[in-house]
Amino acid sequence: AKILGIETSCDDTGCAIINEKGDILGETLHSQNLIHLRYGGIIPDVAQDLHRKYIEPTVHKTLELAQLNWLDIAAIAVTLEPGLPLSLAIGMKYAKHLSRKYNKPLIPVHHMEAHALVARMQHNISFPYLTLLISGGHCLLALVQGVNKFQLLGQSIDCAPGEVFDKVARRMKLRNIPEYSQLCGGRAVEMAASKATDLNLFQLPLPLVDHKDCNFSFNGLKTSVMYQLFRKEKEHSIEADKLIPEANDLCAALLMTTSRHLVHRTQRAMDFCHNNNLLPDEKKQLVVSGGVACNNYIFNTLTELCNEFDYKIYRPEPKLCTDNGVMIAWNGLEKWQRNIDVVSKNINSLDIKAINVDTEVDNRAE
Ligand code: ATP
Ligand code: FE
Repeated sequence: AKILGIETSCDDTGCAIINEKGDILGETLHSQNLIHLRYGGIIPDVAQDLHRKYIEPTVHKTLELAQLNWLDIAAIAVTLEPGLPLSLAIGMKYAKHLSRKYNKPLIPVHHMEAHALVARMQHNISFPYLTLLISGGHCLLALVQGVNKFQLLGQSIDCAPGEVFDKVARRMKLRNIPEYSQLCGGRAVEMAASKATDLNLFQLPLPLVDHKDCNFSFNGLKTSVMYQLFRKEKEHSIEADKLIPEANDLCAALLMTTSRHLVHRTQRAMDFCHNNNLLPDEKKQLVVSGGVACNNYIFNTLTELCNEFDYKIYRPEPKLCTDNGVMIAWNGLEKWQRNIDVVSKNINSLDIKAINVDTEVDNRAE
């Protein structure tokens, strides 16, 4: 079976076709990144207009790259939630149109579940496993027990790490530096941090140190970084983009503290799984995914944690960590093979506000 996946939850219009073995037969990604950079952030109306403009060419191009036509496609998988409602609506509407026109079943996909499952496409990872999802809109730990069985262990009580990186990069005007001009905030912060010279110049507070649950918080960290930046600007009477090397040192401090926080909470989740016999020894596996998982410093510190506790660690390749159509197609395939959520009749029942996953926080994690 060949599955076509459509992703429009945020600012990327993505489409991909995969076969039953998980080979990518065609993929297309239209990124709005550079347009939103000019506005200083994503404006939902603008994102929606761009999805509307690019969705059809993106899907057509994918079929063309795969050298397939609609007769070859078994089903269409599409992101249902979470995301920007205006953006999600375009993908869903177009998927419904295709479903009617070519008589194909629709498979609704949860964007975060897709981030967590796509690691299985290229690695031999069996259920259950632990996942840490770190992205522009989320930060969560979950136990993945099956394709549609996720047990949430903890999540951010405020903002997400990718969002902090993006805001700090913008406030630092890192994009004024030519070699960073095309990069997303997280990648720019990573590059700046790699040039740090004094790793002890800034001390940032480690969030939620006394909390015994698996939740995250990044607001305090963001505020501290912004405050330190302000202080240094005043001290030297210059703006952030001229504030080198301090800005590099501050990026390094942000990255180190973020990593420590992620490691701290992930270790708690490992303890919780161990104490409740949720993960047998042979299933000690951690999957890290979402855009922030591209960060090598963060991944390396998590790898050290995994080595210490005898976990295997996996992450999808970078282009599959950030938003893409492949992960939607893969999740669609996993559901198709188990006949989960395959909607043939009554596709109008699919509504972008519908909720079909267990999103209750498991309080035993406390
Ligand atoms: P969500 O998945 O929560 O809905 P999203 O889809 O917008 O959010 P992703 O596409 O998964 O997020 O990830 C984008 C985020 O990843 C951005 O905030 C970006 O700054 C961050 N990011 C990308 N590369 C890196 C990197 N190398 N280091 C740190 N952060 C990064
Ligand atoms: Fe995402």
